[in-house]
Amino acid sequence: TRQFTRPLNDLANQWNSVLSAVAGAERVFEVLDERAEADDESGAASARQIRGGVKFQGVSFSYNGETDTLSDISFEAKPGETIALVGPTGAGKTTLIGLLSRFYNPSGGTIAIDGRDLASIRRESLRSQMAFVLQDIFLFKGSIRDNIRYGRLDASDEEVERAARLANAHSFIMRLPGGYDRMLSVEGGGISQGQKQLLAIARAILANPAMLVLDEATSSIDTVTELKIQEGLQSLMKGRTSFVIAHRLSTIRQADRILVLRGGRLVQQGSHEELMDQGGLYSELVRGGVKA
Ligand code: ADP
Repeated sequence: TRQFTRPLNDLANQWNSVLSAVAGAERVFEVLDERAEADDESGAASARQIRGGVKFQGVSFSYNGETDTLSDISFEAKPGETIALVGPTGAGKTTLIGLLSRFYNPSGGTIAIDGRDLASIRRESLRSQMAFVLQDIFLFKGSIRDNIRYGRLDASDEEVERAARLANAHSFIMRLPGGYDRMLSVEGGGISQGQKQLLAIARAILANPAMLVLDEATSSIDTVTELKIQEGLQSLMKGRTSFVIAHRLSTIRQADRILVLRGGRLVQQGSHEELMDQGGLYSELVRGGVKA
């Protein structure tokens, strides 16, 4: 799964490099603009208040201009809904997220956010309202407090702590020597994988985005921490449109809609019950224990 999650981490790292320079955002966007990224159309407007309605209509995408990596994808997410993306490695889940976050533009079809063509929304304003919570959180050398504050640089200490409480991270932080002042290294510095995820959740809660991309952990985490993460995620996802690359059936079942991808096509969509009734790839994945 390491290999499988990597492209999504790449996307998120670019996202992070934007966030890290909120103060000097202009400069970072200049750097990003030099990459092979979807350019803003002239006249692209900022969308201050995204509600998080998402609509894909006949979307296709090709990396090489020859073969389609995604073909004819259509689905809708209402603001606040949770969408689970499932399917075998290489099915196109990460590519779909790349389109949603405007790293690429579709080669066919349209993507709309709140009824507005995604291409007409500035990447910068999209990014201020969309957060990634992945298996590997980006940490930097600094206090736990500052690592959480990275979600919103002007947040007060009280706001940082409030986010940490909502994320279920407060209790473990308080048990550490130094508490919120405890210094972390890039590798984390003595905190567990599960605790890193709680920090990632706290950071995202602080950022308060309308839309979320979550990559569920596949690594084994102790049951107590796992439960804390699940609860933290519940508070994070509440009221936000969430796209979850899900590996656990318990998560997938809770989604409002499941998109089942294979070979770049959306082969099934619906709730867990609907898809189980249909038979086909979804029920096969479920019988195989998912983890795809
Ligand atoms: P998933 O997330 O479901 O594993 P991906 O969206 O990562 O699937 O990949 C879908 C297909 O697109 C795969 O065949 C993959 O090799 C290809 N692909 C992914 N990223 C790139 C890229 N940057 N350039 C060319 N092909 C890519």
